Amino acid sequence: MDSVNIARRPTLQARVGHVIVGSDAPVVVQSMTNTDTADAAATVRQVLELAEAGSELVRITVNSPEAAAKVAEIRQRLDDAGCVVPLVGDFHFNGDRLLREYPDCAQALAKYRINPGNVGKGAKGDDKFAFMIRTAIEYGKPVRIGVNWGSLDQALLARMMDANNRVAQPLLLEQLMREALIVSALESADKAMELGLPAEQILLSCKVSNVQDLITVYRDLGSRCNFPLHLGLTEAGMGSKGIVASSAALAILLQQGIGDTIRISLTPQPGEARTKEVVVAQELLQTMGLRSFTPLVTACPGCGRTTSTFFQELADQIQNYLRTQMPVWRLQYPGVEDMKVAVMGCVVNGPGESKLADIGISLPGTGEVPVAPVYVDGQKDVTLKGDNIAAEFTALVDRYVQSRYGEGGAKRREGGGRTIPIRPVGV
Ligand code: SF4
Repeated sequence: MDSVNIARRPTLQARVGHVIVGSDAPVVVQSMTNTDTADAAATVRQVLELAEAGSELVRITVNSPEAAAKVAEIRQRLDDAGCVVPLVGDFHFNGDRLLREYPDCAQALAKYRINPGNVGKGAKGDDKFAFMIRTAIEYGKPVRIGVNWGSLDQALLARMMDANNRVAQPLLLEQLMREALIVSALESADKAMELGLPAEQILLSCKVSNVQDLITVYRDLGSRCNFPLHLGLTEAGMGSKGIVASSAALAILLQQGIGDTIRISLTPQPGEARTKEVVVAQELLQTMGLRSFTPLVTACPGCGRTTSTFFQELADQIQNYLRTQMPVWRLQYPGVEDMKVAVMGCVVNGPGESKLADIGISLPGTGEVPVAPVYVDGQKDVTLKGDNIAAEFTALVDRYVQSRYGEGGAKRREGGGRTIPIRPVGV
């Protein structure tokens, strides 16, 4: 991985199942299911998909007795399948009742998400909040106090508006609302600690749907507490809009060391896999140099020098191939997640980018001799030609991975060293 020098915001560290969150622990990728939790089979299936894609925490909706009744079974089925990903329970409105009536649910979850705006009003709300916190204490579970712009505690907001109206220089409404989000999170954290929840079992989030507001809120929140923070742009939207908005907001905060877990709240396009949000979160962290998950393909955008779509198809095919291999490669070939592969469209930048990658191919542009030189560790290695270039290049990537990252491979040893020749396939 390219070295980066980003000082993380110092925080307490929370343990969510086996996952450490906060301070210098790696920024954790989180996702959320969209299945009905009462449908245990569908939820298990989706959690497995998300975990396989690389989600390190998975949140599930716990909104009804039927859902709460299935949580322990879901946990058991995941364990039976060898999937240890911690489950986070998302509670709103009735979390106290569900935790009281389904103690096996309280036990099976690794963290509870509590939204202070949805717990309830007045003394009744305080009692419900207190019960959830006492349950977290009893079972030794961390809690994320997750405030959301769309469900801000209205009583708190009214109280703050009254106070604001009495000061000489009142805050503007949007400033006041941002402040109310932060105060809601911090006051709830104080209440939880007064009830006896250790500070190390508290994480905070203050989600909004506007990029600039999110950055402002989290900078402020981060400067006023030392709890780990969960980052996410809520209701980010679909497709490229959701990806761009989330990446813009989260990248700025992560660059400033703010953020200990992240979720990309994408609305899946019809037919799109739920795992897209995990892939985007990983690619955000990896392209920023914060973590490595999967070898990434450098590909040029193409231009008038290459009228064929072959190099686009090859780049896509190679990236998909690398991603599908990772569940096995991660175990067999430590360090492979840092590998860089280049697929380039013509001679203009092709050889240069290919030399910078661990393994790269420079395909022929329009009018060029129809050959494709392959570069390995910066040196021209073989030249592919004919109709089988895609399969041959994939096989070369496979061999590179085995030789460099396998037992005794050069990339496994400190400082590299031995070079194992890569032989061309079928040429
Ligand atoms: S490498 Fe060649 S094909 Fe790709 S964008 Fe550059 S000039 Fe165009």
